[in-house]
Amino acid sequence: MLNVLRNNEAKQTLSAQGHELLVVFRKSDLPKDWAQYAGIVVNTDSEKTLLEIVKKVRCKQDISSLIPLFVNELHTFQEELLSHTDGKVHIAQVDTIVKRAIRINKRLNQIITPLNLSAYEVQIQFKTLSFLYSRKSLLTPFTSRKSKIGYYFPMLSLWNGDDSLGILKALEAMQHGGLIAGVFKDHIHLCKNCSGNYLNFKEICPSCHDADIQARDMIHHFVCAHVAPEDDFKKGDHLSCPKCDKKLRHIGIDYDKPSAIFSCNSCTNEFQNPQIQAACFDCEKENSLSELLQKTIGEYSITAKGEQWLLNYDTSIKEEKHSRPPSLKGISFPIFKLMARQELKRVAAIGTQSTLGSIAFQSNEIEFFNSDMKTAIQVEMEKIIQSYLTDVDLLYSEAYNKFYFLLPDTLASNCERLEQIRYNLSKLLTDNLTGTMPVVMHTHQLKKEDEIDLLLNTL
Ligand SMILES: [Zn+2]
Ligand SMILES: [Zn+2]
Ligand SMILES: [Zn+2]
Repeated sequence: MLNVLRNNEAKQTLSAQGHELLVVFRKSDLPKDWAQYAGIVVNTDSEKTLLEIVKKVRCKQDISSLIPLFVNELHTFQEELLSHTDGKVHIAQVDTIVKRAIRINKRLNQIITPLNLSAYEVQIQFKTLSFLYSRKSLLTPFTSRKSKIGYYFPMLSLWNGDDSLGILKALEAMQHGGLIAGVFKDHIHLCKNCSGNYLNFKEICPSCHDADIQARDMIHHFVCAHVAPEDDFKKGDHLSCPKCDKKLRHIGIDYDKPSAIFSCNSCTNEFQNPQIQAACFDCEKENSLSELLQKTIGEYSITAKGEQWLLNYDTSIKEEKHSRPPSLKGISFPIFKLMARQELKRVAAIGTQSTLGSIAFQSNEIEFFNSDMKTAIQVEMEKIIQSYLTDVDLLYSEAYNKFYFLLPDTLASNCERLEQIRYNLSKLLTDNLTGTMPVVMHTHQLKKEDEIDLLLNTL
């Protein structure tokens, strides 16, 4: 039997196939580094405790919020709460739980976290897409009185709290961007003032807008063609025509009721068609039907484009993770790009003159060296370049033979340092190698309409 329930420094874990699941009874059982476990199994019968745990895990900013999170099937909880988890499990069937966790983790591990995750919209988009991708599931809303808009979304409703309209807007934006695809489920109508959907629809007087109105049937007497409200025909316990005095006998034979007439108890106005109005229970605002905000509720899935966004969020970051030699002192590519974009904003705002440039060379000789040798050369080259840069200049070394630099408030045309860098690198290479091509330097003065990604590709 591989399944072991272990008490490990007061932490309970379940193990199978070399994977460990953390068993959590209360919120305080959650360690900071829960991501080191293959998954979490919540074992509580308290709805409050489960909600606390689910919130703490799922509301974390990063991808660790999407760790496989199961609930002991012995306990009963509302669908709403369970929708944020990966469902119920039989706690004795550890192999099955671990298998499910592995499936999810495999896909979570492929996901690249975006740099600007602190931006709220990016975070919601990233976590929604990550959830859809890692669970290979649909985002299916369900009706709920607890939701202000009447529909509840797994995960999203947890992250957005009371901002239900914010959820719909985030989904609309993702659908618009082609990252998710939606299948129509329902239309909802929301209060123009507070976006609530707890509305009271009622008929009102078109004149004074009071709801204290009364409908009365109209009677059409066939014999004399008299038409009047039913009250006018009432005489004791029978109906009699006020015009021709004849007793009315059978509906459909000597009279009928062609329509109703409304009268207002507030202003005595009489009318055929009352207006419809929706009063909001939450903010008490009255809405005419045309004023209500109509929104579409859909069931969503991730598209190929969405997967691409998620998995290659920034190819450079992906490569960075795997290939950047630790001995390099320069900054990483994402940071370099970020700073370059920042510099571009300065150029646009205050018109500073700044330079973006690259240094490159080709060497067939170095190309045949092993990767350690190449890294050593890259570190050496980086050192030489850095020695000519000032504190505000930035350098990114992409490979032993390709470097990018950013010189704020500096024009290449009157920057002697650049020529010195080029000369010294050429000297180093020609002194040590045979058949080295010259060091090529490209520079570009930043203009406000520039695109950093484009520039870095062409420099
Ligand atoms: Zn309202
Ligand atoms: Zn009225
Ligand atoms: Zn009559």
